[in-house]
Amino acid sequence: MTDPHADRLAGASTLLATLPERRGFGDATLIRPVPGSIDLGGGNPSVDLLPTELYRDATHAVVTDPAFGTALRYSAAQGLPALRAAVAARERVDPERIVVTNGGAHGLALAVLGTLDRGDTIVVDDPVYPLFLRVLDLVGGVNVVAAPVTADGIDVDAVERLLRDGLRPKALFTVPTFQNPAGGTLSTEASAALVDLAERFGFTIIADDPYREVAFPGVVVPDRPRFRDTDRVVGVNTFSKTLGPGLRLGWLTVPESLRPAYTKLRNRLDGQTSGVLQSVVARMLADPRYDAAVARAGAGYEPRARALAAALRDELAGHVEVRDPDGGFFVWARLDVGAEDSARLFDVAQDAGVVYQRGEWFAAGQERFTGFVRLSFSEGDPETLREGVARLATAWRTVRTP
Ligand code: PMP
Repeated sequence: MTDPHADRLAGASTLLATLPERRGFGDATLIRPVPGSIDLGGGNPSVDLLPTELYRDATHAVVTDPAFGTALRYSAAQGLPALRAAVAARERVDPERIVVTNGGAHGLALAVLGTLDRGDTIVVDDPVYPLFLRVLDLVGGVNVVAAPVTADGIDVDAVERLLRDGLRPKALFTVPTFQNPAGGTLSTEASAALVDLAERFGFTIIADDPYREVAFPGVVVPDRPRFRDTDRVVGVNTFSKTLGPGLRLGWLTVPESLRPAYTKLRNRLDGQTSGVLQSVVARMLADPRYDAAVARAGAGYEPRARALAAALRDELAGHVEVRDPDGGFFVWARLDVGAEDSARLFDVAQDAGVVYQRGEWFAAGQERFTGFVRLSFSEGDPETLREGVARLATAWRTVRTP
């Protein structure tokens, strides 16, 4: 019998040979290098809003500590006790429930491998964080059912209707705070209703919450106590948005009953996260300046978000729907453009010197999000953001006037 993939990937496993292509999101082949282009596509924090001084101090303290050598030894797969304790205090859970990871994407992979089997069904945000669908490819054959998100995050009534109609998912994936891409935030009440459904119908909520700490001044992120007091939620989090994605450090909050299994899984995959980095971040979390630095970053993003949203309203007056975000890194806007023009707009905009993410790339179900764009405000100063939107508007006018 001939191997259908032999010519493509000699020696590859079925998984490696059959990982599907998914266009969009991070697909470098779609982006043409245009000199001087403004990139509104990414999800990086702003370098000038990262607490680099705290890094320097904490790193110095760690490497000059006489006990530094211990950070270079093998350590527990679940993570360093000092880091787990600091994270657990913030999560308000038992430190035993914290599993340290190499960032959010790693945490999502662990949560998916720890929850789903081929043939299972998962309900996801629609629009969805696209990397999550790619992580599902690790299992393969998972049925994805879309649930709409509103300005208040995933629509819990819509999820309930799906369940009433007989759907029996194994899991549900949502980004509860400043949802990527649409920006909505799940209230305390809605989160409790979602957990009630999870308990009643027996599914696991994978709650991916990287933007929780990127809140603008005066914005209070709802507490979600039911996410803590149930064995039906696996929390996924990362320091990528507050301490930088180059750090590669995050954590899972797992139900007590699953803690040994997750530790075993971690142990089989890669053993542990860097002891050095865990020691540094444990020190940073204990530094009294840490919370102020995180709050300062949130405050630093707000004028950028306002500038971007205002520029859209000015440049595309009457032809754009946009809501001012309360936090996070993105504006999700609907432009007045049809399905065919949406693809052309992306190309023309690249030529005009601006890159963004197309709404279609975030589709999980029937809704294609044609005409939607996700624009990142995190890295640009207000002037650059306004220039980026001006270029987008020029491209939009070109596309509209053939
Ligand atoms: N989840 C969401 C919703 C994200 O936006 C991101 C980062 N873009 C991640 C997870 C992944 O985070 P990390 O960089 O830590 O892998």
